[in-house]
Amino acid sequence: MKRILYIPFDQLNAGYGVLAKADPQSDLIVLVESKRMVEEGGWHKVRLYFLVSSALHFAQELRNAGFTVSYIQAATTIDGLKQIQGDYPGLPILTAEPSSHRLFNQLKEFGVEYVENDFFLTSRSLFTLWAQKQKSFLMENFYRAQRLRLGILVDNGAPVGGQWNFDKENRLPPPKNYTYPPYLVHEVDAIDQEVADRFGIAPATTWATTRAGALRQLEYFLENHFEFFGPYEDAMTTENWALHHSLLSPYINNGLLHPSEVVDAALRRFERGDIPIAGAEGFIRQIIGWREYINGIYWHFGDHFKERNDMGATRKLLPLFTDSGKTQMNCLKHVVGEIEERAWTHHIPRLMVLSNLALLTGVNPQEFLQWMREQFIDATDWVMVPNVIGMGMHADSGEMMTKPYVSGGSYISKMSNYCKGCAYDPKKRVGEDACPFTTLYWNFLIEHRPEFSKNHRMAQQLAGIDRLSDVPELQVRARQVLDGLDRGEI
Ligand SMILES: Cc1cc2nc3c(=O)[nH]c(=O)nc-3n(C[C@H](O)[C@H](O)[C@H](O)COP(=O)(O)OP(=O)(O)OC[C@H]3O[C@@H](n4cnc5c(N)ncnc54)[C@H](O)[C@@H]3O)c2cc1C
Repeated sequence: MKRILYIPFDQLNAGYGVLAKADPQSDLIVLVESKRMVEEGGWHKVRLYFLVSSALHFAQELRNAGFTVSYIQAATTIDGLKQIQGDYPGLPILTAEPSSHRLFNQLKEFGVEYVENDFFLTSRSLFTLWAQKQKSFLMENFYRAQRLRLGILVDNGAPVGGQWNFDKENRLPPPKNYTYPPYLVHEVDAIDQEVADRFGIAPATTWATTRAGALRQLEYFLENHFEFFGPYEDAMTTENWALHHSLLSPYINNGLLHPSEVVDAALRRFERGDIPIAGAEGFIRQIIGWREYINGIYWHFGDHFKERNDMGATRKLLPLFTDSGKTQMNCLKHVVGEIEERAWTHHIPRLMVLSNLALLTGVNPQEFLQWMREQFIDATDWVMVPNVIGMGMHADSGEMMTKPYVSGGSYISKMSNYCKGCAYDPKKRVGEDACPFTTLYWNFLIEHRPEFSKNHRMAQQLAGIDRLSDVPELQVRARQVLDGLDRGEI
């Protein structure tokens, strides 16, 4: 053997990263399952099942392809690498640039050599070139530049369909009297069963743990959901946990799928003519826009971004986040319940239910970030940090997003059926049955009015305060709501 190739659990693809030029004759492949991750992280068991089983399957596939593979269980990643170095002294260790600041620095210090991370469509240096030319980091501007650079949905420099963005057509509430396609159930094999047993759960058939399964999920999405993705991408309903979302983030994040093949497959389907441009554009924007933008921002803003708490929020994590039984609010009970079951919910519950509540109640952003990272199947540092600190918690004074994503109960009521039968009324801001979101939304705007008054994008929301006739009562109710949430009784 001439080289040790280290494969982190989010680089599981033989065509990219350090494996793209690997040779079974001279390269030893190493994967390290760290105790820190599986035992000490407090991670959701479904997430651990998915990550570990995917890595074990990948190791097996590499062995089948003729590679020598060592799957090491060690206290930490570095301990695992020390172990392999002891077995093969003097060999260089190579990997593709790790996706988190922590691992990047640790491995570098340990002497691991890097090849460029090509698991994204935009290199870190290319994003920096874009960012250096911006006054503010508007995702929409980045996205348009991506469309032009990558030549996706453009015709002679103009957007196909005449618009760059069809969001206005895409924000529909959940449909009524509607039949959703059945969920795709993934097959379970002996490796899955063994890993599930280790973590004391049943194998999670919602999630594939192989590239073949991930490709099946992609195909199933394109065949059954792609057409309706755009219109209902912001809708939430108790009738269906996934609506028309793709459920692809775990695989794109751990390497089983590459974003370019997801985009290519979606474009091929669009070019067949049966997908409206609004739907196709909406989905492609998620991949070439949002996903790439978030990764670019993570590296551009640096490791300290995750510590930002510009609003000085100090509240402890609310009990309802760790136990869906600790709330009377239908929306939270439902969303947290879904996460407890399968470690996933789509972007609007993440943003407009979970983060919205954390921001309105002044939960400490680092505590909330920690909880989010533990819970979600697709959580990794590069994607959680900007989404939570910048987008969800506005803890960066709007450096990433120009205004906070806050809303009262009316948004949740419009975009979901959660409010039906709830103990709280989204239209009310005072009184025992006032929706906590509505009360806290107004209270938040009143409290933060001075700092938001210079933000013209907040002008309309702030002007609403002057029309309120019950500010003292509202503030009393807000205190009761906060106390009740702290006790897990609201
Ligand atoms: C507060 C908050 C936290 C989030 N945390 C994560 C996370 O830890 N991991 C994660 O992968 N996504 C995260 N997202 C983004 C998004 O919610 C998930 O990617 C999406 O819900 C995954 O489900 P899906 O694959 O069905 O996505 P779809 O709705 O089908 O979208 C397609 C793909 O677009 C990409 N995408 C869309 N929005 C984003 C975004 N904001 N950031 C990055 N990629 C995006 C994902 O790769 C996703 O698979 C977060 C969003 C918010 C608001």
